[in-house]
Amino acid sequence: MNRTGSQNHVDGVAIPDRLSLLDLIPLEDLQHLQDALAEIGRVKSVISDPDGHILTMPSNDIPVCKTVMQSSRGSQDCLRNLQRLSGKMKQERRAMIHHCESVGILKAAVPIVIQNMHLANWWISQYCTELANPSQMVFYARQIGLNSDTLLHAAEQSVQITRAEFEKALNLIGQLAQKITLLGYKNLMLLRDNSKLNHLQSELDRYKSELEKLIQARTVDLVNVNKRLKLEVLERDLVEEQIARKSKLLDAINQVLHQVVADRSEQSLAGTCLRAAQVLTASPFGFMVEHQEDEWQVVAYEHLGEAKDTPQPLQLQKKFEVHGIWSSLVQTGKPVTIQSTIGNPQWRPLPEGYPKIKTLMAVPLPRQAGISGFIALANNPRGYALIDQTDVESLAKAFSETLMRTRAEQANHHSEKRFNLALDSADEGLWDYLPQKGYVYYSPRWFTMLGYSAGELPYSFETWSTLTHPEDLPVLRKTFAQMVPGLEDAFGIELRMLSQAGQWRWMQTRGRTVERDADGRALRIVGTLIDISKYKQVEMALQKANEELQRLAALDDLTQIANRRRFDERLADEWRRARRDNTMLAVVICDIDFFKRYNDTYGHVKGDDTLYAVAQAINAVLKRPMDLVARYGGEEFAMVLPNTDLAGATRVANEVKAAIETLQIPHEASRVVPFITLSFGVAATIPQGNSPAKMLVEQADKALYKAKAQGRHKIVQADPAIFTNRRAIP
Ligand code: GH3
Ligand code: MG
Ligand code: MG
Repeated sequence: MNRTGSQNHVDGVAIPDRLSLLDLIPLEDLQHLQDALAEIGRVKSVISDPDGHILTMPSNDIPVCKTVMQSSRGSQDCLRNLQRLSGKMKQERRAMIHHCESVGILKAAVPIVIQNMHLANWWISQYCTELANPSQMVFYARQIGLNSDTLLHAAEQSVQITRAEFEKALNLIGQLAQKITLLGYKNLMLLRDNSKLNHLQSELDRYKSELEKLIQARTVDLVNVNKRLKLEVLERDLVEEQIARKSKLLDAINQVLHQVVADRSEQSLAGTCLRAAQVLTASPFGFMVEHQEDEWQVVAYEHLGEAKDTPQPLQLQKKFEVHGIWSSLVQTGKPVTIQSTIGNPQWRPLPEGYPKIKTLMAVPLPRQAGISGFIALANNPRGYALIDQTDVESLAKAFSETLMRTRAEQANHHSEKRFNLALDSADEGLWDYLPQKGYVYYSPRWFTMLGYSAGELPYSFETWSTLTHPEDLPVLRKTFAQMVPGLEDAFGIELRMLSQAGQWRWMQTRGRTVERDADGRALRIVGTLIDISKYKQVEMALQKANEELQRLAALDDLTQIANRRRFDERLADEWRRARRDNTMLAVVICDIDFFKRYNDTYGHVKGDDTLYAVAQAINAVLKRPMDLVARYGGEEFAMVLPNTDLAGATRVANEVKAAIETLQIPHEASRVVPFITLSFGVAATIPQGNSPAKMLVEQADKALYKAKAQGRHKIVQADPAIFTNRRAIP
């Protein structure tokens, strides 16, 4: 039999935690106890489980019984008696006495029951003088095949007690056994509680260390996020600066293109290019030299702003002496920068007519092979160390290519004004749109930026709109709907475009109309495309972080509902809106009854838990998205209910009141009912004139005060006349 298992099965039904007497008293102790009590009571004694299975060694054997047991029929009879008695005790759970008249033995048992669990039976028996009848014994001995003399002799050898003595012994053993077992049981329970406590303690320790680990990990995370955000902000600043720079370059290129379209004279084209380069590099003075008719000639020069130190106009088409730094530029085709001409051994002053050169940047004008000339940019007061040389090179390259193209077109008497705008070194893709022809030229970079190979997609506006994110498509369409008829002449927009890899990239595009027909409609719009995904990502991450910060700043820490600040802001907003729309606005203020007593009774920690529960319950009642509940003070909550009249707000208050009642949070010290309750003040009005929003709160507060005075756990409405009367006062 499974005694100590946590579950036993009796008739297929599981009974939990069935105890045995041996779980409560160790066998050795039980045996000593049984021996001692048997000695005191002068009886034979043994202990069995409720089913009759013997747990201990019998104490004080009785010679009569020992003799009877020698016969198999005798021992069978004895066993049957034992079983019958066991069965009866199991049902009735009380002490029972049985007479074995045939051999003069009294047999009895007391059940040991703890907590309604029948644990064991304590058996005693003895040869009883009053019961003994020698002739019956002789008869029985024959029946079971024993020598009757042997049995009678055994009777003489047995202890003889009276029935009264036997019953006394039974009583004593019953009481003591019960008490001792109870002690054993209590001991066991204590042990269990103790082990439960130990278990709980170790669980707690485990949670604690896990929590500490989590907190540590979280802290590291936060520190990392913080570092990353800082880095991203730095990066964003860099990208922003880059975009600003690139848009300057675009303006410069656009000016060149515009010039080409408006006037095909090479000279003015050179002048425009030079001016654009000067603007780009903040250079007050600049000149351009080209290799023409076997010599280097000045083809353009330009003073920007007030040219104080310009002696006289320079002569164009004049031969330029290429020596010193100029010859190394012409030979290597590499740009030259001079931070200061003073004391520079390579520098030789320019001939008469030129201003004094202090700082200089010169970039070559590239040709298919070698260079066709150079642009010299001079006298940026801060020097050229911070100027991006590649931008100037891009511009020079655009100019050279445009110039070559123009020459080729002129040579071919080609009327089509097409340019190759390919700028390999630049980060931006270029596009050139001829709306009336339905043709868009996209530069190779335009394609590669999006992961396509140059010329992979058709040169049509359709290509652009197909790649544009559906949500941004209206922006693109609207922009060109204004550009094409000439309503606008420049634009800058941001769009998501689909890359070949299937990703949406954030792109910035700027454009400008460079040619129009007589009606002012655009014949040609050119522009750039830059990938700003990185910048956008940072921007969006920052925006999210800001939103989260704002949400947290508006939240009450303890109750996790809106705080007083948020309430005041919302009330002011709703007050303005209600005044404008001429609608009702209601405020409900409620306060927990006798909360000081609650804290005094249950402690502050419990008080905090209750505040949280009450806040959450109120919040759950408010269903409309514009309704707001906030923690207004310590144990005071305020609701702002737009578009709600006094009756409606009272209905809401009633729902909150009922919701709190349903929580049934015990509050023994309350003088209203032994549960947490609230008192309410309700006010509603249509805001008029200049009256401030706080008057609505004041009226609700006054009503709350009345609810408290009238015994609490009540809803009191502010008198609507108060608002009307106020209005009457000018
Ligand atoms: P009344 O029914 O008149 O409102 O009685 P009251 O005891 O609720 O009112 P009283 O204004 O005298 O006391 C408010 C108490 O609320 C005082 C303070 O113990 C408790 N309280 C305020 N803020 C907190 C808080 O954040 N946590 C806890 N636990 N108790 C707070
Ligand atoms: Mg209170
Ligand atoms: Mg209060």
